[in-house]
Amino acid sequence: MEPAGAPPPSCAPAREAEEPPGSPALPAERPRDGEPARKAREEAAAVERSRGRGPAGRAARSAGRRGPEERGARAGRRPRVTVDSSKAKTSLEALKISLRQLRWREFPFGRRLPCDIYWHGVSFHDNYIFSGQVNKFPGMTEMVRKVMLSRAVRTMQDLFPVEYNFYPRSWILPEEFPLFVAEVRMMKESDPSWKPTFIVKPDGGCQGDGIYLIKDPSDVRLAGSLQSRPAVVQEYICKPLLVDKLKFDIRLYVLLKSLEPLEIYIAKDGLSRFCTEPYQEPTLKNLHQVFMHLTNYSLNIHSGNFIHSDNVNTGSKRTFSSILCRLSSRGADVKKVWSDIISLVIKTIIALTPELKVYYQSDIPAGKPGPTCFQILGFDILLMKNLKPMLLEVNANPSMRIEHEQELSPGVFENVPSPVDEEVKVAVIRDTLRLVDPHKKKRKDTQSQTSEHVSETREDLLDAGPAGGPEYETSKNPEAALPSLCLKQVFPKYAKQFNYLRLVDRVAALFIRFLGVKGTTKLGPTGFRTFIRNCKLSNSNFSMASVDILYIDITRRWNSMGFDHKESGMCLQAFVEAFFCLAQKKYKSLPLHEQVASLIDFCEYHLAALDEKRLLCGRGVVERRGAAVTCPTDGLEVTPALHAPLLNRTAAAGKLADCRSHRYPAAVSPGAGRD
Ligand code: ADP
Repeated sequence: MEPAGAPPPSCAPAREAEEPPGSPALPAERPRDGEPARKAREEAAAVERSRGRGPAGRAARSAGRRGPEERGARAGRRPRVTVDSSKAKTSLEALKISLRQLRWREFPFGRRLPCDIYWHGVSFHDNYIFSGQVNKFPGMTEMVRKVMLSRAVRTMQDLFPVEYNFYPRSWILPEEFPLFVAEVRMMKESDPSWKPTFIVKPDGGCQGDGIYLIKDPSDVRLAGSLQSRPAVVQEYICKPLLVDKLKFDIRLYVLLKSLEPLEIYIAKDGLSRFCTEPYQEPTLKNLHQVFMHLTNYSLNIHSGNFIHSDNVNTGSKRTFSSILCRLSSRGADVKKVWSDIISLVIKTIIALTPELKVYYQSDIPAGKPGPTCFQILGFDILLMKNLKPMLLEVNANPSMRIEHEQELSPGVFENVPSPVDEEVKVAVIRDTLRLVDPHKKKRKDTQSQTSEHVSETREDLLDAGPAGGPEYETSKNPEAALPSLCLKQVFPKYAKQFNYLRLVDRVAALFIRFLGVKGTTKLGPTGFRTFIRNCKLSNSNFSMASVDILYIDITRRWNSMGFDHKESGMCLQAFVEAFFCLAQKKYKSLPLHEQVASLIDFCEYHLAALDEKRLLCGRGVVERRGAAVTCPTDGLEVTPALHAPLLNRTAAAGKLADCRSHRYPAAVSPGAGRD
């Protein structure tokens, strides 16, 4: 289903669609002194002030115990958002421009006191942060690697093959090499006219690194490196849409503003990156011509044909809106293109969120101090000749550079500004910041509830602890001078149309519930048994011994694929496979997604009943504590350990079964049947 009322494509060049940033260019915000010692003194004084010590503190106390925020607010000034940019890396320039436009305070060398926002160039784990917001989610880098993304999308393809047909058919190497060979052979036999091409992409690679095209599975370079570097082999999209006879792809910026509740925004404009050799459908002769087949900027920039654009409509890198404009002038239904792209983005994020939630609870366990997260993702999308968008990959760290290297004379390079990059990327960063502005909500509250203002700011001040007083903006609201947001909300806006796809999210919630120890990402055998018993999934046909066999079998196989050896136990994807097995066994005749949905309903029902019972018991215990009456913990029934026939495999596992002479272990663990 397509999102109704998708935002109309911005056909006007982005420059017209949104005014150029109107705020007068302010000098770069640096720490006011630029001198570490003085800065440290100032910050120490701020700590003293906030604690009410020292001369400043005494003055504050004598001023009627009014905190700096309260005083600032009374003077009609707004607090300035503080941003730690010390780890921004290559996104620093675009971030600086954004912060200037917003008139927020940048801390380019970090800050001893907490900042409101931490801007990281690479990953969540750059720093130890206990409050505020950080622009990366834990686990995102891992999740969008080619193998993990392919696995996550494949799980969704097993459930919803039609909805997830925007991702090329893929196999994971080396483990699925036999399956790849077998499936290609089968497809060729059933359709002799099928002359496919495949693209092999090393896991974790970027910028076209190590990518090559093949015509036959036997051409996969299996020797040596694959064991140490897994890869994805994918059907090559042979008929891409061409502009000026060139293949191009689209880099679209997507803001994942929150995981729970899910909030997704898409930038109205993106970048189109062009090949530099006219496209021809792949043949044995042209397979190796990277400037014809790979759209990576980092590769094509080395072609003599690369054209640096000084406007957004021409050259080897253009705005996506300029392409849409051109398509529209040729009569294409660009509104449909946009709506398909929005669907693709929402569905892809729905495929990623279950695992992300597992990482999130592991890194930032509920109830412990930690930051909230948001993240800008780069979606690489290829438009097929028929205008259907296909997902190529998702980047956790899309390049935010706004300059490029130019060879002035042979061997002499210089960084020169890239207007196309600046136009798109600065808007994305600035508007991301506007959307996560920690003071915005407070400002709204302040405007609407003046009477509550004093108590609220007092609370904030207490919460702020040693952070001292906030920075103040003395001039008018800089938002007024900014163009309208370039990021459009698509979720929860279109939630109704996509919520039915969020089955694995619900399975992940069950998984997380039974993880047990905080900070883990894998489920132990006891956790799995507890899940089975609490959800009342064990019965005379499915004994606890079979439960153990299922656990051992699936966990062993997933662990042998060998991605995460740090922890032992069952990872989410293995749990999902086990869950699908159980669903197939319980609801035999339904399609897989209905089997899974029914089993989720069944589990959620029993867990809700259990929670209610525990709540009542808890109350009972409290009420009757004096009489030392205890309640049975959960009234579990332990099913006698009868041996059950082996379970059916899931569709995904079943596909692999032919290629792996996998056998269930004959014996179960010593603890089988007891717990
Ligand atoms: P990298 O992370 O190394 O850039 P990508 O998956 O983005 O890897 O692939 C690099 C380029 O190869 C893409 O930009 C695109 O031009 C081309 N490409 C990738 N996958 C396909 C595919 N399935 N069909 C056609 N072209 C593809």
